[in-house]
Amino acid sequence: MSDSNGHHASSHPGVVLLFGAPGSGKGTQGSRLAAQLGIPCLSTGDLLRAEAQQDTPTGRQLREVMASGALVSDEMVCAVVEALLERGAADHGLILDGFPRTVAQAKFLDRTMANMGLPRPTVLHLEVSVEGMVRRLTARRQCPKCKSIYNLISRPSLLGDRCENDGETLVTRADDNEATIVHRLEEFDRLSKPVIDYYQGPGYHRVDGDRDLDVVANELTDICHLAQLETRSFGD
Ligand code: AMP
Repeated sequence: MSDSNGHHASSHPGVVLLFGAPGSGKGTQGSRLAAQLGIPCLSTGDLLRAEAQQDTPTGRQLREVMASGALVSDEMVCAVVEALLERGAADHGLILDGFPRTVAQAKFLDRTMANMGLPRPTVLHLEVSVEGMVRRLTARRQCPKCKSIYNLISRPSLLGDRCENDGETLVTRADDNEATIVHRLEEFDRLSKPVIDYYQGPGYHRVDGDRDLDVVANELTDICHLAQLETRSFGD
């Protein structure tokens, strides 16, 4: 489909940024959205956790920072995302879960995407109450192998304490304990406001994440389909 300038509508929604506090449902909604749109969803948290398992100085440093609930340095996380984009991860659409979390990261992403000729991202901000976040985080379980997320309250595994996909024993993430959760929420509050301000304007969407999972999922999919229709690119 071409417009009068000879541009054509992109056949994918471009880069979608899932923004929200820990426990806002980014992981769950990210994988549902990925299935709906047929594009991958990558979480910087998962990428960094994989790196943290390495027995290297960087791995050890990452383990320490992440277990405390603090953010990993902009330099380190931007390098991870830059490597992804350079490998072409966003060429056919990509959902990024948990990035950017600071204005420096947002500016870095804008520069990198502009240099690669990628259109501006669609930002989905999942907003939930503090009680909702703590409730979800303490009940969250994850498969250490395939990274699927379950929740003892809202989405228990049909196999009890085992993953439905591969039968691995589900684990509680090291940073999902109450003290660390409070630190992560404080960090998020402190750093998120400037990022939200940075993204105000077209392409930014605030979504009430306290509602039923399916209702939220449908709204996110609708926004992305609309963005897909509006996106014009020079071929893809
Ligand atoms: P998440 O799985 O998104 O909750 O992230 C878990 C942890 O990974 C965070 O508490 C941070 O330590 C680290 N992390 C993930 N994404 C970022 C990011 N964009 N910037 C800095 N640290 C991050």
